[in-house]
Amino acid sequence: MKVGVIGLGNMGGGIALNLRKAGNEVVVNDVRRQVAEDHLTAGSVWADSPREIGEQCDVVFTSLPGPPEVEAVATGQDGLFSGMKAGSTWFDLSTNSPTLIRRLHDEFAAKGIKVLDAPVSGGTRGARDGTLAIWVGGDEAEFNKHMDLLLAMGNAPKYIGPIGAGTVAKLSHNVMTYMLQTALMECFTLGVKGGVEPLALWDALRHGAIGRTRTFDLIGMYLRGEFDVGGFTLKLAHKDVMLATELGRELDVPMRVANLALAELTEGMARGWAAKDSWVTALLQEERTGLDFHYSAEAVQEVRERP
Ligand code: NAD
Repeated sequence: MKVGVIGLGNMGGGIALNLRKAGNEVVVNDVRRQVAEDHLTAGSVWADSPREIGEQCDVVFTSLPGPPEVEAVATGQDGLFSGMKAGSTWFDLSTNSPTLIRRLHDEFAAKGIKVLDAPVSGGTRGARDGTLAIWVGGDEAEFNKHMDLLLAMGNAPKYIGPIGAGTVAKLSHNVMTYMLQTALMECFTLGVKGGVEPLALWDALRHGAIGRTRTFDLIGMYLRGEFDVGGFTLKLAHKDVMLATELGRELDVPMRVANLALAELTEGMARGWAAKDSWVTALLQEERTGLDFHYSAEAVQEVRERP
């Protein structure tokens, strides 16, 4: 099968390599030509524009930062719409706006092109190892028809519902992460300021009634204090929580805690941390409390493994 991948970043890079490994002919494109090198070595072919990918491929995947880039690739100059043929299929793997993907779905449907939203979860490791969760919205028959391609990139493709449903599920999931980060940091700094040694506190919390659901494991993402390599950058987390709170406003869902989390992420962006790992904003609560506690990866792992 001839498939196109547009966006070869942290996620799309691994996804394109896995599609190639599964024996597909892969055509790639990115605004940064240099990120294609590994792909060309693996036997994939370069295309100069999304339009060229659309002209050549039966199925196209996009893994782009967010709504502005998805819209540009879809309907901008030399975009997918000008190249894709009737009967072909586009899966958008980006975490995008449900409103935008629904509109594009309808525009592409007029030309006989199927559009599905298929946001992923599982981080850069999942993209590299082919173990992503994939939440798909759109035509169910089309989802089933391309199961082999989805299984090349993830071990848990799930059909969620009509177009936009995958994205709504994904935004609900991601906004939860940053609501939890805000809440966890508040109770954690309370415990540390109350005089409990941070690793002992973390170990205790992990084994409490709530902790046994693994919620407190998230604090381990912060304790190592390594934020410079952003597998999931603050910029993307900020975009996701903006999209989720926008959806809340559209649907009249009050989102008190999510808006607090958004303020934390916005403050981190204002500090110039956009390219750092999204857990960097936990530092803000550390700063407000005058605390500073970081540990080696080994120390954090040792607590994780405690019975
Ligand atoms: P990234 O910034 O590393 O990659 C995006 C890629 O798109 C870059 O290579 C960029 O050059 C390219 N690009 C931007 N505009 C383009 C255009 N107009 N045409 C062609 N290429 C273009 O981002 P990422 O971390 O790979 O994330 C991609 C998507 O997946 C985002 O929507 C993100 O929210 C989502 N996501 C990321 C993670 C993660 O852990 N990184 C996890 C789940 C979902």
